[in-house]
Amino acid sequence: MKGLKLAGLNGNQKTIVNVDGVKIGTGFVVIAGPCSVESEEQTLETAHAVKKAGADMLRGGAFKPRSSPYAFQGLGLKGLKILAKAKDETGLPIVTEVVDPRDVSWVCEYTDIMQIGTRNMQNYSLLKEVGKSNKPVLLKRGMYSTIEEWLNCAEYILNEGNSDVILCERGIRTHEKYTRNTLDLSAVPAIKELTHLPIITDPSHGTGRLSLIPPMSLASVACGADGMIVEVHRNPKEALSDADQTLTPQQFETMMKDIRKLQKFVGSEINGK
Ligand code: PEP
Ligand code: MN
Repeated sequence: MKGLKLAGLNGNQKTIVNVDGVKIGTGFVVIAGPCSVESEEQTLETAHAVKKAGADMLRGGAFKPRSSPYAFQGLGLKGLKILAKAKDETGLPIVTEVVDPRDVSWVCEYTDIMQIGTRNMQNYSLLKEVGKSNKPVLLKRGMYSTIEEWLNCAEYILNEGNSDVILCERGIRTHEKYTRNTLDLSAVPAIKELTHLPIITDPSHGTGRLSLIPPMSLASVACGADGMIVEVHRNPKEALSDADQTLTPQQFETMMKDIRKLQKFVGSEINGK
């Protein structure tokens, strides 16, 4: 693939991103939590529930890049403080999105992984800024982007000196309307052929439909993904964003049992694990 000096395989060893002992790039790491941080109670209750069900990390958006300017935009700093408290109580490392290059230096202080959302994948000034930080970056695939464009964006981050980049396949826009996006699972083994970077999937945004999330999470294990990020809320009906694609803690727990069972059967011959 053209132009990849750092993201390409080039004989490089597989990158394993170690976040407080959670290793992304070996096994199947599950990041779970609400789409948005809405309140302390909602976040803490959800955090404890996903921890109990076996999640490895907590997700939650404090800055929400919403398609409409009138939709809930997130709690900002207050949300980051709530996430820090959830980490304190559960021990789960935090993944949260950063949307503005001016926020990177201080958002870094509250999070363990910085997420770059699909709408910002090609925001080059943001990519350079997170590339200068010392926090791992979860780079979501742009909804209209090719794999080559995506990897070039990873290259932007690596080129600034940050080697901890995790890719996330979160679905792309196709002509299909039944699903919110089309989760391109073929991107997972393709990425493994092209780069040393770990890749996870996002079956929540990748399908937009509750019923499709558990099967696509199992498919993610089977195709060799290094993990997934999934939306869970203590009461999805009340969620201020992405309610239709959000699992209850009970649904999450059932899915986790199936994931851990399947993991045992997905051997090294299939995907090098
Ligand atoms: C999210 O993770 O809540 C989110 C906004 O994701 P994406 O950028 O993939 O739409
Ligand atoms: Mn969401």
